[in-house]
Amino acid sequence: MPTYVYECQSCRHVFEVVQSMSDAPIEVCTKCGKKVKRIIPNGSVGIIFKGSGFYCKDNPRSGCCGGCDKH
Ligand SMILES: [Zn+2]
Repeated sequence: MPTYVYECQSCRHVFEVVQSMSDAPIEVCTKCGKKVKRIIPNGSVGIIFKGSGFYCKDNPRSGCCGGCDKH
């Protein structure tokens, strides 16, 4: 099972979650309860953001990742 890394958009708390690709993405920070973003360490690109686009839905005008500060 892959390990996903999430970063809180509010407090910058970073945590790892082991989950299968079919599991729903984590959406809230384990520390403060605010919105988190799934990131990939080492700058590799691949499985992330394709499919759900769970947080990019907040930026419909720019499309997925167009409004993300990591892209
Ligand atoms: Zn947080």
